[in-house]
Amino acid sequence: MSVIDYKKRAKQNSYYCMNGKAVNRPHSDIEAIVIHNVGEENGRESTAKNNVDFFANGNQRSAGAHFFIDRDGRCGRSVWMKNSAWSVGKVGYEEGSYYKKVNNFNSISIELCGIMRKAPSEAQLKKLDQLVNYICKHCKNIKWIVRHYDVVKKVCPERYVTNKKEWLELQCRLLGVMQKAMKKYHGKDV
Ligand SMILES: [Zn+2]
Repeated sequence: MSVIDYKKRAKQNSYYCMNGKAVNRPHSDIEAIVIHNVGEENGRESTAKNNVDFFANGNQRSAGAHFFIDRDGRCGRSVWMKNSAWSVGKVGYEEGSYYKKVNNFNSISIELCGIMRKAPSEAQLKKLDQLVNYICKHCKNIKWIVRHYDVVKKVCPERYVTNKKEWLELQCRLLGVMQKAMKKYHGKDV
């Protein structure tokens, strides 16, 4: 089974373009994975497909993310890894502790759906492990896995800003996946 279950490329306002063309980056530029949560308007959870479709058809803002993972453990791709999504910009926010290290141009963003009021599901966490492994396989210079909040102080992902212990557990799990993958695919200790 493939890691990505659904793909639909986002409109160009979601990522870095010039003169109507996507500006590509080498995968070797990518050093960080940034974790977010999808907001829940009127308390409604969304799926990976809902979000990927929205960014392909509806979104009007300069905003986007590469991947969405929902509670059913489905992963959708919205922005290609070789494109820089508008995900962690500074406008309106204070600098976080990783601000000088992580930006839109050297990171990949993963949005988790339906985790505002509930902890992520087992299926969702399993898919997140698989996706981190997949990203590390294709991007040999990954070294950081952080929250949006660590780049700029947006309260995102909310549950992991308000509950630091929960975040440290998740980060530890994902760094373990990263370390294993970097060793396996690139012979690297990170
Ligand atoms: Zn975010």
